[in-house]
Order: sequence, then C-alpha cells, then structure tokens
Amino acid sequence: MTRFVFITGGVVSSLGKGLASAALGALLQARGYSVRLRKFDPYLNVDPGTMSPYQHGEVYVTDDGAETDLDLGHYERFTGVPSRRSDSVTAGRLYQSLIAQERRGDFLGGTVQVIPHLTDAINDVISADSDNADFVLCEIGGTVGDIEGLPFLEAIRQFGNRVGRDHAIFIHLTLVPYIPSAAELKTKPTQHSVKELRSIGIQPDIVLCRCDRPIPELEKNKIALFCNVSRSAVIPAIDVDTIYEVPLRYHEEGFDTQVLEAFGIRDSNEPELKRWEKIVNNIRSPEGDVKIAIVGKYTGLKDAYKSLTEALAHGGIANRVRVHLQWFESEIFESEDRLQHLAGVNGVLVPGGFGERGSEGKIAAVTFARQHNVPYFGICFGMQLAVIEVARNLGDMPEAGSTEFGPCNEPIVGELTEWLHGQELEIREQGGNLGGTMRLGAYECIVADDTMARRVYDSETVFERHRHRYEVNIGYRDQLEKSGLLISGISPDGMLPEIVELSEHPWFMGVQFHPELRSKPFSPHPLFSSFIKAAVKQSRLV
Ligand code: GLN
Repeated sequence: MTRFVFITGGVVSSLGKGLASAALGALLQARGYSVRLRKFDPYLNVDPGTMSPYQHGEVYVTDDGAETDLDLGHYERFTGVPSRRSDSVTAGRLYQSLIAQERRGDFLGGTVQVIPHLTDAINDVISADSDNADFVLCEIGGTVGDIEGLPFLEAIRQFGNRVGRDHAIFIHLTLVPYIPSAAELKTKPTQHSVKELRSIGIQPDIVLCRCDRPIPELEKNKIALFCNVSRSAVIPAIDVDTIYEVPLRYHEEGFDTQVLEAFGIRDSNEPELKRWEKIVNNIRSPEGDVKIAIVGKYTGLKDAYKSLTEALAHGGIANRVRVHLQWFESEIFESEDRLQHLAGVNGVLVPGGFGERGSEGKIAAVTFARQHNVPYFGICFGMQLAVIEVARNLGDMPEAGSTEFGPCNEPIVGELTEWLHGQELEIREQGGNLGGTMRLGAYECIVADDTMARRVYDSETVFERHRHRYEVNIGYRDQLEKSGLLISGISPDGMLPEIVELSEHPWFMGVQFHPELRSKPFSPHPLFSSFIKAAVKQSRLV
C-alpha cells in the first residue's frame, strides 16, 4: 500500500520546501521506490494560470495541460516523473467545485462546512490517481500559522490518523538563523513553529532545519528535546551552491534513512546516487564559459523563468560549460544604441511572454542576433517575435505584427480559436475567460527531414508542452520561406507552425512550445544542449 509523506514549512516562506520534497523524491527513487509528488496550495486562485509571474513565479504546465505551481517543475526535474493535473490543487479549485456541488443541490439542503466538506475534498485529492506509487509526497504550500493553510493541516492530520503511523509521516522544514551580534544559531523559531504545528494535532516525525552553516550537536539536541523528536530526526539542510547537490547532502545527513525508519522500514541498501554525483561534478568543473542574454519582461524576479534558467544550466552540463545569464529588460533595446549591450554575448534568448510592452525591444534583439550571427533561441513569444522580425526585415512586410497587440494589417501572428488536439477539436471564444483557455499541454509536432530541428531532435515526431493563445499564421508560409525562414516543425494537421529556423545563420531557431518544461539535469533537452553548443562555438570565434 502507498505510503504518504506530508511536508510542511515553518518560520518563513521561501525555505525551499519544493526543492526539499523533490530531493527526497529523488532519494527514494535512488533506493528503488516509485514516487509521485503533489502540491497543495492554500490560496484562493483556482490555479496559478492567471497569477502574475512577478508575484508567484513561473506557471508550470503539465503534459495534460494543467497550469500549476513552479514546484511541480522541481519535482519533475529531480525525479523525471511527469506531473499531472491531479498533482496540483489549490483551495480555490476545491471551493469552486464544492460550491458548484452545493448549487446543484448535491448536499440536499445540508450545511456545507470547511470540516468535513473541504477537508474531505482535500483527503480525496491526497490519495487519488496515485498510480499505486510506493510513496506519495505531498507538499503543503505556505507557512504553518497562515489562516488559509488551516484546512489543509487539519486534512492531513485526519489523513494521518486514518491510515496510521506506518503509512503517513510528517516532515517540517524550518529555519535555524544565525544571529551575528550574538554569534549564535537560534533554535527558538523552530521550537515555536513545531509548537504551532503540534497545537493543531500534528507531531512532526522529522524536523528539517535550513541553516547557512553546520548545526552543532548542542543545538540539534535542543531542537530534538523541544520539538519532541529523536536526535537522529533533526536533519540539517545546509545551504549549497547548486540545487542538484541537495539529494547528496540530504543523504549524508541521513534524511532518507530517517524517512524510511519513520515508516518502520529497515533498508540497509545504499541508494544509487551516481547520477547526482556526475551532475554535481560536471557543474563544479566546467571546461569553459558562455554568456547568454535573456531578453524578457519579468527579469526582476528570476523565479518567473525558473524552468528556463534550469534548462540553460542543463545545456551547460551537457557541454561541460558554465552558462552565465545576463538579464535584460527588453524595453531598453527600444533605443538603438543600447543594443551594444549585446555585443559580448554568445547567445540571445527571448523567452515566453505576453503583451505589447517591450515587444519592439525584443524584436530589436532578434535583429541584432540575426545580423551578427549570434545564436538565437526564441521560445513561444520569442518565436512569434522572431517570425515578425524576419517578415518585416527580410520579407518586405513592414507592417507584420501580432493581433495580440491590436488590429494589424499583416497578422503574421494571430489568435486561434479552433484547433485539433489529437482527434478532438478544441474551441475557444475570442475574448473569453482568461483562465485555462490557452492552447495548453503536450501536442505532437512533426519535424521535417533535413532541417536543423531534425538533426537536433533526431526524431520525426516529438511531443512538447504549450501555453499560448496566438499562433504563427500558416497562410504566410510561402512568404516566410522565401525570406529564408523555414517552418521545420508543424502540427500533424499541417496548420500550426511549431518550429522555425533560418538556414543562413549558425543557429537561429524559434519554437512555439516550451521545451524548458521537459529538461532534466540528467537528460538535458536537446534544443538547449544544441543552443549552448552553438554558443560555445560562437565564443571561440570572438
Ligand atoms: N503571448 C503569446 C501568446 O499568447 C505567447 C505566449 C507565451 O510566450 N507563452 O500566444
């Protein structure tokens, strides 16, 4: 029977609960167990799809088209297990469905309440669709003490009570801060956080302590005593310089052993960690450096591009180089002379984005990369803008644009309201709801023979994840191809351009999908490996 691990956080947010969960998933896998990881977010948004990346970081899209929290990206990158819609739930979605049931009259006039109705709904999600995995790891978003998190904590308390100690355990991640003026590590915030958790009826089995330095025995003993756990269940989580080192450090601290012991499992085998050692070695001893410019709009908050920065790092691992990222707010390139900032870079990447603001700056960056033979990688919006750039400057269509920015004489990129998903027709109304109505999730793409895309993928069909409302207009295919821009990947019905490339350029590609969502440190995405390889080549020329 499946065992459940609940991960909560205390003291402050941003301690890396997602990473901790992902790394534990990787460790359990390394011991031969199957895992699924799930995220429970207590906020009232139905999903993160309509939340600002400024506030919430990137929206991670699953194969089955769910717009989810970025922690699901960590889970996939560490375990390789593709996440699904059922792995991510928010309080908003649960309330939405409860209220819909209430309106239908499903409760037969009964009072609908947080306990038991919402907590039952949470309990159902915890165990649903789990593929009978050996372990299901459930991360509870937010911090213990948040009012909105209470129903989730109550639900996991009930769940643990129902399935028993050998089938559900609780891990609490806290912070042990160093106070410079006292030259001491402080355990009090951890004590208080666990006290708060216990007041709701949850006794953690393991306390995972984030700290910027080793925690001395004295403090560990104190935490054990005050938090009512054994000394060996106090696990330090010391800051590391690469996130891919986390599974290795956790193992050294005995985290995976403690988790198994908490379930009453005695496993004397060592986990197979070679994969992680190799990745860390590769990151620590690069044989060169490349500089990649990211020209975007949300560059103030790096979490807005989490999967992208990881995928670029994976491209670096594949080529044994360190990838330095230079972030540019695209609007600065709207004045000509600023393009000089791009002079020293070995590659330019325009990531996904929305809206007109800054788009002309991104187009200017495309022009720069095209004219200076600098490798260019356009992702989603970055592909659409690259097509517009080529149409305007090589295709003699000065008015080429996207209907995303308003009516347009040459709508080379336009809104799509009907398309095929496998055999099914998907229909959207123009200007309808914003939530969940884009082309979302994995779609098939046919890669044309004898193209750079084909060489990169080495496969005729690929599946990649999408999240966009607009498409390159296939009606312009001939004009674009005459200008030198080849449509090298297309949907199976031949209607939706998926990959474009410039033949007369060392490396110029645009993809309508988000390849970064499928890249893993142990299996870098071929487009990112190839882009970084081209950047390495370029760096040797300058
Ligand atoms: N704004 C564009 C669209 O909706 C691109 C979206 C994206 O880059 N994810 O089609």
